[in-house]
Amino acid sequence: MATRRTKASCENCFFRQNLLCAVAGDTPCASFRPNHPEGLRPPSQLRFVFRQERALQVAWAFPTPAEQVALHA
Ligand code: SF4
Repeated sequence: MATRRTKASCENCFFRQNLLCAVAGDTPCASFRPNHPEGLRPPSQLRFVFRQERALQVAWAFPTPAEQVALHA
């Protein structure tokens, strides 16, 4: 699905279009949400991806004898 990107501006903002903006000025702020015909839409959910290498690695292990020698030599 291709997403169409619009430039953030107060004129395109859902809050300004619905008279819900209480911010003075015409500079877009962090609350900008594009005004879609179906109203506010939540941002798309991030996909949960398992990393294969993480599934195979242990989080912690005792150092090997060689590593102990190097550490305490
Ligand atoms: S919420 Fe922010 S971006 Fe939207 S109209 Fe108000 S100031 Fe502009």
